[in-house]
Amino acid sequence: MGTPWTNWARTATANPHRVEHPASIDELATAVAGASLVRPRGSGHSFTDIAVAPGVAIDLDAWTGIVEVSGDLVTVRSGTTLHQLNALLDVLGLAMANLGDIDAQTVAGAISTGTHGTGAKLGGLATQVVALELVLADGSLVRCSASERPDLFGAARIGLGALGVISTVTLRCVPAFVLHAREFPGRLDAVLDEFDHLTAVEDHVEFHWFPHSDRVIVKRNNRVDEPAAPLSALRRFYEYEVMENGAFGLVCKLARAVPSTTRTLNRVCGALVSERVYRDVSHRVFVTPRRVRFVETEYAVPRAALHDVLRELRAAVARLDHGVIVPVEVRVAQGDDIWLSTAHGRDTAYIAVHQYLGMPYRRYFDAFEQIAGAVGGRPHWGKLHSLTAGALRDRYPRFDDFRRVRADADPGGKFTNPYLDRVLGDPSGTGDGA
Ligand SMILES: Cc1cc2nc3c(=O)[nH]c(=O)nc-3n(C[C@H](O)[C@H](O)[C@H](O)COP(=O)(O)OP(=O)(O)OC[C@H]3O[C@@H](n4cnc5c(N)ncnc54)[C@H](O)[C@@H]3O)c2cc1C
Repeated sequence: MGTPWTNWARTATANPHRVEHPASIDELATAVAGASLVRPRGSGHSFTDIAVAPGVAIDLDAWTGIVEVSGDLVTVRSGTTLHQLNALLDVLGLAMANLGDIDAQTVAGAISTGTHGTGAKLGGLATQVVALELVLADGSLVRCSASERPDLFGAARIGLGALGVISTVTLRCVPAFVLHAREFPGRLDAVLDEFDHLTAVEDHVEFHWFPHSDRVIVKRNNRVDEPAAPLSALRRFYEYEVMENGAFGLVCKLARAVPSTTRTLNRVCGALVSERVYRDVSHRVFVTPRRVRFVETEYAVPRAALHDVLRELRAAVARLDHGVIVPVEVRVAQGDDIWLSTAHGRDTAYIAVHQYLGMPYRRYFDAFEQIAGAVGGRPHWGKLHSLTAGALRDRYPRFDDFRRVRADADPGGKFTNPYLDRVLGDPSGTGDGA
């Protein structure tokens, strides 16, 4: 019997029959070939039950590090965390072109759910992948890229762990760079009015909106040819540990204990935002510690629909019978060609809504899902949503192609779990999967 498993947000649990920790390709292939139901898992940072292993769990914590470097192409073992990867790239003078908010995820886990950061001329992490090696259901090792098994490559870069166990990922990196970071308070309407301009002229823009007010924090990060001028260790500790985690955590606890204070606390937090300007190595700007636990849903909507969706979300928040303590996060990405990418075929705005763990969230998330759904919104594969294969098929032009590749790679459904049954349907690829 394996050890019971829970994800970071405590929204998913599993009791795998056993947990394998392969440390070589042979061990990985043997673990896959010898199991009838098997599932790889990363760091458990998905909010959905996507990583739940009903049979054998494969934990890749012993399968880390760089395999090969060739110019700006870096091949890493799939269990390497983004934190480890960033440190290894620092030594090579390289970096990831873009990253999300945290670095706890494994490389394979992050790409498999479509993890992204922000930047109107940049895609999510999976767009930085140029080749993958996977162990398929029969234990065979295959390689795919734009020129080798292109269909498998189109599917497996954001493969939801449904096609096989990724063993290595080759990433196109960029020379290490410094970001000039400026974070400052603003007003929602003013930011929306200039958002198209902002996203066009800044490398990375996002904002966090305090939904019981019109206050936002805007974050603008731009590449500069200047040396890093980071926040001092003391200031960093104060800003991130004391304010963003310690003090914010206390505010959240208070809101949970005395729900009637939530709206006021949210407004006060919005009013207390102050400016922060510094320059630092890219990943030290992209990534910040997140110790306050929350639940989250996120939808990718067409860029042009952002204003309408936020206006309707604002009205929905006002109708809720409870308050919302955690801000709404808005980011952007360039459209891409990955089959199950939430940004497939269209420039995208990402809207993420959160609530502190233990506070009511279902009506809030459901209302947002309706609003985003009306403009063809696509849910992040790793964040809470209730869509099934029938609805998702309408939102992804290559959905049936993905199901075809899945049926070829894993005809017996060895890698499935209840989440994949819901979002992809029958592993045989037959039926509409609704
Ligand atoms: C605090 C927090 C902040 C976050 N910030 C962001 C953000 O800024 N942007 C964003 O887009 N998302 C964000 N996320 C979501 C997160 O990036 C994704 O859910 C990601 O998938 C988690 O990676 P993981 O390593 O924990 O994978 P897990 O959640 O453990 O697994 C995710 C999927 O990857 C599959 N998988 C894992 N390893 C392999 C493998 N070797 N081969 C094939 N499949 C594999 C699993 O089977 C599963 O389907 C955040 C989540 C949290 C909790």
